[in-house]
Amino acid sequence: MSKLWNIAVVGATGAVGTQMIECLEERNFPVGKIRFLASGRSAGQALEFNGKPVLVEELTHDSFDGIDIALFSAGGARSEEFCPAAAKAGAVCIDNSSAWRMDKDVPLVVPEVNPEAIAGYTKKGIIANPNCSTIQMVVALKPLHDFANIKRIVVSTYQAVSGTGTKAIEELRVQTGELLNGRPIKTEVYQHRIAFNCLPQIDSFCDNGYTKEEMKMVNETNKIMGAGIKTTATCVRVPVFYGHSESINIETERKISVAQARELLQDAPGVELADNPANGEYPMAINAAGEDLVMVGRIREDDSVKNGLNLWVVADNIRKGAATNAVQIAEILIEKYLK
Ligand code: NAP
Repeated sequence: MSKLWNIAVVGATGAVGTQMIECLEERNFPVGKIRFLASGRSAGQALEFNGKPVLVEELTHDSFDGIDIALFSAGGARSEEFCPAAAKAGAVCIDNSSAWRMDKDVPLVVPEVNPEAIAGYTKKGIIANPNCSTIQMVVALKPLHDFANIKRIVVSTYQAVSGTGTKAIEELRVQTGELLNGRPIKTEVYQHRIAFNCLPQIDSFCDNGYTKEEMKMVNETNKIMGAGIKTTATCVRVPVFYGHSESINIETERKISVAQARELLQDAPGVELADNPANGEYPMAINAAGEDLVMVGRIREDDSVKNGLNLWVVADNIRKGAATNAVQIAEILIEKYLK
């Protein structure tokens, strides 16, 4: 029988954590012991793993004894504090927060794009999962970059509320119901109303006028795909529950025709081509939700520049944008690196 691995899910009660648990089950990850960790508020709550109840425990520095892999999605502050403790106890951490992404001793990995970077986990015992918006963009762009060398990316995102976590999903649901019934609404998670609105702010503003989310897309893309690509981003929260959509414009060194782009993306790892506009077929959040593939469509040449291409890219932010990507990394870890 092949080896079983002891796993800790940190943030097990959250939007990403619950999906992480489902991904481990769906993909038949060879789990030995599993430990669900969250705040003291959730301690004692029973969740299920493969049909059996598992009690949630409070996250402490001693939570990682005997754990081989720790999947973190409990916010940056918890990752900053507890990843080193987990690594010291011998676990490899795969972290969904932004805490370690730009650390030069921590690999930032999307398995379809730079799986070889995983080897760098030995420096700190931590591997970072990129931001959800970055993950789906680089999966779609990697085959085009390999063919034609991308020089510049202009991306605008339309991001679902699940990207902010379980409280934001509830805020959109409640606000929508209240507004449709003519009742007053509360805004708690977001500064402004999200129902029937678009918010051109995700995360806080930096000194340069961009938001942190926008700068994550710029910096993480460089770390994953190489420093030669210039990226500019505008990130917008929209009243969608699951699935981030992105309008992406690229300029390449070599020309790519629409037909070539379709051919390159047709069999690309992690990509589903949905590009038949005549039949009304293109990527939409309602189709991407619950799926692991990154959907690409609306491919058009951009005639306003020398070698330009426009694409519309959609993926489930909780699955490929977080949980699935983390579990894919864990699969490569146990196959190639851990004994
Ligand atoms: P969420 O739904 O709000 O869940 C947060 C989780 O963190 C819960 O399990 C919560 O436990 C736990 N937690 C909070 N404070 C804690 C503490 N002091 N000690 C231990 N556990 C604590 O948020 P989420 O959307 O799952 O996001 C979690 C992380 O993943 C964030 O760092 C986020 O940036 C990242 N991420 C999210 C997405 C996305 O699309 N949602 C994508 C990529 C990355 P309790 O239930 O006990 O409070």
